[in-house]
Amino acid sequence: QAAFDPEKKTIVILGSGWASTAFLKDIDTVNYNVVCIRGSHFRCQHKDYAQSRAKSRRTFCFTLTFPIPSQVIVSPRNYFLFTPLLPSTTVGTVDFRSIIEPIRYITRHKSREVKVYEAECSDIDPVKKTIVINDNSEIKGSVAQQSLPYDYLIIGTGCQNATFGIKGVEEYACFLKEVWDAQKIRTRLMDCIETAAFAGQPEEEIERLLHMVVVGGGPTGVEYAAELHDFLKDDLVDWYPDIAGKVNITLVEALQTVLPVFSKQLIEYTETTFKEQNIKILTKTMVKEVRQKEILVKDADGSERTIPYGLLVWATGNTTRPFIRSLMEKLPESQTVRRGLAVDELLRLQGAEDIWALGDVTATKYAPTAQVASQQGKYLARMFNLMAIKDKLEAQVVAMSEGPEKDKQIRKINRLKDIKPFHYSHQGSLAYIGSEKAIADLPLFHGNISAGGVATYVFWRSAYLSNLFSIRNRTLVAMDWIKKNVFGRDISRE
Ligand code: FAD
Ligand code: NAD
Repeated sequence: QAAFDPEKKTIVILGSGWASTAFLKDIDTVNYNVVCIRGSHFRCQHKDYAQSRAKSRRTFCFTLTFPIPSQVIVSPRNYFLFTPLLPSTTVGTVDFRSIIEPIRYITRHKSREVKVYEAECSDIDPVKKTIVINDNSEIKGSVAQQSLPYDYLIIGTGCQNATFGIKGVEEYACFLKEVWDAQKIRTRLMDCIETAAFAGQPEEEIERLLHMVVVGGGPTGVEYAAELHDFLKDDLVDWYPDIAGKVNITLVEALQTVLPVFSKQLIEYTETTFKEQNIKILTKTMVKEVRQKEILVKDADGSERTIPYGLLVWATGNTTRPFIRSLMEKLPESQTVRRGLAVDELLRLQGAEDIWALGDVTATKYAPTAQVASQQGKYLARMFNLMAIKDKLEAQVVAMSEGPEKDKQIRKINRLKDIKPFHYSHQGSLAYIGSEKAIADLPLFHGNISAGGVATYVFWRSAYLSNLFSIRNRTLVAMDWIKKNVFGRDISRE
């Protein structure tokens, strides 16, 4: 690998999710230094980096007409997570290690060294072109905060879970966004079951402990409820024959139906399948408050009641991260959409220079999905690669004498300047609904095809298997599925 080059421009990438990883995979590091800031723990201290950047700034003044850029990644987690299979890890259908891949898996194959910092960005200064990163991990060195300069900044930090300020959510509910959320759900689930099986437990308490409530009828909530049902039906009935029959699953949704993004036919199919699986759906029911052992809900008629629970999973969608909100406050005239960062059609952050944003962190016309995020990452990498070629050609043109060769070069440069806006190509929506059934809305033959059932489940499995990050991931997930069929899921509480 070529070394970090102080003479090249530095791209700092925030996040190691779908958007940033797609960008990182396709960016040509011959042309840039890359720094990856992947989440929240800043383990490495790079004094050399700050020194090299100071040098780079001097060089930059000198080479203003010939800027060849370089890369850094910053993220609090040092891996990419394949979120579509995260619900499967909450009950052990798939092991969480099978769906993650270290970000260094990509960076070690790059032609130029990419700096990777496990750290959380807490501030972006779009005027000075610097960011502040923090080591929020348990183990800290003598440096736990650092300021990094950037030439180009790519923000792919996604969103955090929306709570709408509802009292008690942060304190008592489990989210389902990261690996540690899935681990927490799994531990709590088994704790509820073991506690219900405790000697002399009163019947009413057993009923509460075995009531698993999921709030949010979007794809996350539906897929979690489905996985939980499978665990109950396939495994718990054998391991806990006395109490498994008392487990109840309830899905609470504020709107009229679950899965509003899917077609009407598939919504009905999901509701029927859930009914067969004894998963209770409470639509038009809004959670108003979460207490330690019960939730307070408001029904469609305005009346309020409480529902006792043992495990509460909160899946009510996304909201903007605080440090992104602070960035928006620094750009009040351009950043007026609360939902996320406003970008133009080339994914440039509005109101700032040399910053691009992509994926869930942005407020665009697209749904916050992995499909959109990864397509945006690929698009932006292509754009950067073309930008670098254009800069090289421009530098060559300066030294060329007039003539047909120079005119040809100029025409080439003009073509490269004509950058096409980002275009999203929707590949369809898929969701697992339990009992080896899945649903799919697929854009086919200029129309939409809706399918649900066991065949769709086979399609769902093969689609996810082929979309997994690496051959290692694919092999591990396939082995997990076989292991589950042969031995069943593990019920140990870690
Ligand atoms: P993310 O993937 O969330 O990545 C954000 C990155 O930024 C992470 O690496 C994070 O550690 C890092 N980060 C966070 N804060 C900071 C900070 N302060 N500084 C630096 N780095 C930071 N979409 C689909 O299309 N199909 C599906 O089947 C599907 N299934 C899903 C299942 C679940 C359970 C969930 C939760 C989501 C699912 N999604 C699915 C949605 C999809 O996961 C998101 O749209 C996608 O992850 C967005 O990608 P992103 O790169 O914008 O953000
Ligand atoms: P979502 O925004 O899709 O759904 C959240 C649901 O919670 C909404 O239907 C909302 O009405 C409900 N809700 C909000 N507040 C509530 C309250 N107080 N009480 C009761 N219900 C309440 O969120 P999600 O399911 O986490 O999905 C987030 C994004 O990730 C979406 O874009 C989704 O398409 C994507 N995703 C896709 C898949 C897939 O394709 N299989 C899986 C998971 C997530």
